[in-house]
Amino acid sequence: MAASQKEDLSASERKILQVIAAGDVQEASHLLASKDVRVNCLDEYGMTPLMHAAYKGRADMCCLLLQHGADVNGNQLEYGYTALMFAGLSGKADITSMLLDAGAEKDRVNSVGRTAAQMAAFVGQHDCVTVINNFFSLARLEYYTRPQGVEGEPMLPHRLAGPLHKIIMTTNLNPVKIVMLVKENPVLVDVAALEKCYQVMDMLCEQCVKQQDMNEILAVKMHYISCVLQKCLAFLQKRDGKLDILVKNLLRGRDSDGFPQYQEKFIRDCIKKFPYCEATLLQQQVRIIRMIEIGSGNDPTAFSVLTQAITGQMTFADAHYCATCGEKGADKRCSLCKAVTYCSLMCKQLHWFTHKKMCRCMQEQDADPEMDTPRLKELKGAIYPVVIFDLISLQ
Ligand SMILES: [Zn+2]
Ligand SMILES: [Zn+2]
Repeated sequence: MAASQKEDLSASERKILQVIAAGDVQEASHLLASKDVRVNCLDEYGMTPLMHAAYKGRADMCCLLLQHGADVNGNQLEYGYTALMFAGLSGKADITSMLLDAGAEKDRVNSVGRTAAQMAAFVGQHDCVTVINNFFSLARLEYYTRPQGVEGEPMLPHRLAGPLHKIIMTTNLNPVKIVMLVKENPVLVDVAALEKCYQVMDMLCEQCVKQQDMNEILAVKMHYISCVLQKCLAFLQKRDGKLDILVKNLLRGRDSDGFPQYQEKFIRDCIKKFPYCEATLLQQQVRIIRMIEIGSGNDPTAFSVLTQAITGQMTFADAHYCATCGEKGADKRCSLCKAVTYCSLMCKQLHWFTHKKMCRCMQEQDADPEMDTPRLKELKGAIYPVVIFDLISLQ
């Protein structure tokens, strides 16, 4: 098929492939407007313009091509690669999620039976793997916004679908972050709304376990989010509508070393409460959790065990993660100890009530690295013993 198809390309189509490689969005847009460019034309190898754009890691170009009707699942390539596989290989998480949003099928396999997630993992593009494994379409959630069967009321009011979907899609499982996502949507800060949301999450969890190819990762994630939503609900009911108190509880560090015990216990309980004992992923988690005493120095936290199970990535309390909400790419240091970082001024202020007890001590530790306690090492970015993670065999 190869050679003849390249001859089939118009001059403009050949041009647009060059323009994509060069990243000239304006010129590409101009070419797409002309009649002699087919958005799904194939080059000599059977690659579409969208595949080229995805492989080159050009997000704006992918967006433009999708707007012009590029087929996100088009697949004429000799080796059966899809645009999503190219996005995964390029390591661009934004393009990966854009293609998934546009309907890219994540279960497609190439000619040697590998999915996009497996290919991305093979080349070490873990952010893309996480995005693919955690993808859950808005359409699947919106199903619950329509009345089913004889019931007049849908399980989920339509206005809650968008905000809840945003929470489902987060790859940062820090409970503080999830509470923040609830707080930023006034429609969610409501007893009835939270009740509906967690019930839908429980139902989705059950579906993920019972569907033909059980998706444990998503099942565990749905269960965990349900637990956080139920916690929010309990605080709204009992604490006079104050989610801020929940955030403080989650952040408060133990006096001796700043270890956030409440958060640790909360996540452990979530893991242990997972209702489907046939899930092997969870059995492993529970076993690991049982082996570790709460806050016993430099052992992995329940949060890191959970994160690794769901995202396949290890999290370290290191300089790249916000000490409050766990967001990646934090760049605002505590100006006194310089040992902890935050993603925003708000996170820095939220953490100060508890960090101030440790800040002085961390300043002194910084001066004398020999005196590092395990927890301080962890806070400064040292690596957890890797051996414990060998117990979790993933994916
Ligand atoms: Zn933050
Ligand atoms: Zn400090």
